[in-house]
Amino acid sequence: MRIPIIAGNWKMHKTVAQSLEFVDEILPLTAEIKGVKVVLCPPFTALYSVGQRLQGTHIEMGAQDVFWADEGAYTGEISPPMLKDTGSKYAIVGHSERRHQLKETDEDVNQKVKSLLQAGLWPILCVGETLEQRQAGNARQVVKEQLEEGLKDVDTTGTDLVIAYEPVWAIGTGVNASSEDAQDMIGFIRQELAGKFSQEMAERVRILYGGSVKANNIEEFMSQPDIDGALIGGASLQAESLAEIARRAEGIVNG
Ligand code: PEP
Repeated sequence: MRIPIIAGNWKMHKTVAQSLEFVDEILPLTAEIKGVKVVLCPPFTALYSVGQRLQGTHIEMGAQDVFWADEGAYTGEISPPMLKDTGSKYAIVGHSERRHQLKETDEDVNQKVKSLLQAGLWPILCVGETLEQRQAGNARQVVKEQLEEGLKDVDTTGTDLVIAYEPVWAIGTGVNASSEDAQDMIGFIRQELAGKFSQEMAERVRILYGGSVKANNIEEFMSQPDIDGALIGGASLQAESLAEIARRAEGIVNG
């Protein structure tokens, strides 16, 4: 049984004080939610404080990125052991904003995935095609390559991993993929994982949809058989909005 994840990616938003205010607001709003995990991904600067505030609660935390070495002369970078130290359980890797604006490659993403797993952290590996690639009929091929390269030489035995399918054209645009198209790609990703790793692994891995998810469309996505939750940017910045998404997701899971 895959417990769905509703993860909020705050991107470059919120100071420490604003992050803690959010946590204090969302904790009671989500206290009764069962069967859906809520995960917050604050900016690096707020991780430690948020991690402290979330200790012993029902909400988990992830970072938005990581570097692959444990320590060394890498000015400005943050390692998996450092993330662990803040109370993070997850780290997003390969987000399209990093792939496109910061020129992160599949090889970088692969190193990040491996280093997280080695440290006992869960990667949230983002994959997704651009509008141009979809219109050219290449969406599946692009996602397949991102998966193959991102998970190259990864030993998934006994490890945990989350995949987020985020079509680039749907991120922050207000234009979400249809739930049928998202299911089609996510079903395809699961098939690919079964072929590359094993059926057991493919059935265990949570695959999220991301791209303009809001309270008014989460139920459509959650009703699809292979969609195990959502990675949410804009609509995760207000506690009431993220809590409402989690409540509606729970309604589908328990309904
Ligand atoms: C994201 O940043 O991963 C994302 C899906 O953003 P938004 O929900 O704003 O489209």
